[in-house]
Amino acid sequence: MARIAYVNGRYQDMRDACVNIEDRGYQFADGVYEVCEVRGGRIVDMPRHLARLQRSLGELRIAMPMPLSALQVVLHEVVRRNRVSYGIVYLQISRGVARRDHAFPVKPVQPSIVVTARTISLAKGEDSAARGIKVITVPENRWPRVDIKSIALLPNVLAKQAAREQGAYEAWYVDSDGFVTEGSSSNAWIVTQDGRVVTRSAEFGILAGITRSVLIETLAALQIRFEERPFTPSEALQAKEAFVTASSQIVMPVVAIDGQAIGDGTPGNIAKRLREQFHRFSAFS
Ligand code: PMP
Repeated sequence: MARIAYVNGRYQDMRDACVNIEDRGYQFADGVYEVCEVRGGRIVDMPRHLARLQRSLGELRIAMPMPLSALQVVLHEVVRRNRVSYGIVYLQISRGVARRDHAFPVKPVQPSIVVTARTISLAKGEDSAARGIKVITVPENRWPRVDIKSIALLPNVLAKQAAREQGAYEAWYVDSDGFVTEGSSSNAWIVTQDGRVVTRSAEFGILAGITRSVLIETLAALQIRFEERPFTPSEALQAKEAFVTASSQIVMPVVAIDGQAIGDGTPGNIAKRLREQFHRFSAFS
């Protein structure tokens, strides 16, 4: 089956879909993106993703290329046309096409928009969750505006590659104060020996993950103690459990950091429970 993308107003076979070589997304990574989970053909927590998208666009002074209601229709349509039951829908908006010059185009241009969707193996995800993933730590080397979900992901690409080359799945950034900020494509969490779930504040230094925000509500509903504060890799190594969150991974247990096992080196009970319970607290549309 041909994969279909939505590109600037048209649904196209992905093999034919293309963007202009002077698109500022291509030239400068001058754009933003969102990734939503798709479950049972429905989009998970879409309103929160769209609110974050609007915020990212606003911070970069890129106009929203279409009304939100139309964008929701496009997201659903791309999921439907690709027959995705379980997977992700990806949305990218760039500042648009203009002759190459770092400063914003003087005459406003229409932002470019691309939406794709793909199926992910539910079984593979469950299998990784059952085994747990390994993470490595890397020095934080990203710009300070990581609250903007920008398509400029070179440090994230390099960190993820370093993880892969060391037999790990994710890399956790560690800031100059020695605290874990987040993963290259996920938020980082630990569970202390006395059962408190800890993640750092999203006020600064991390992306305000949608999964993170829903999980904080899940913790409250399940009456699991929660602490919003930074932690170090050594605290994480002493922790009972660790896990990461992202829309494409939900709650993914972490079983080792830099080659050292966390707890008994198997996925923790709280992470497993949160993974099972998560979708009770998320919104489907
Ligand atoms: N931090 C970073 C750097 C990410 O790329 C992601 C995934 N987009 C997250 C955190 C998790 O965000 P979300 O739960 O919204 O997918």
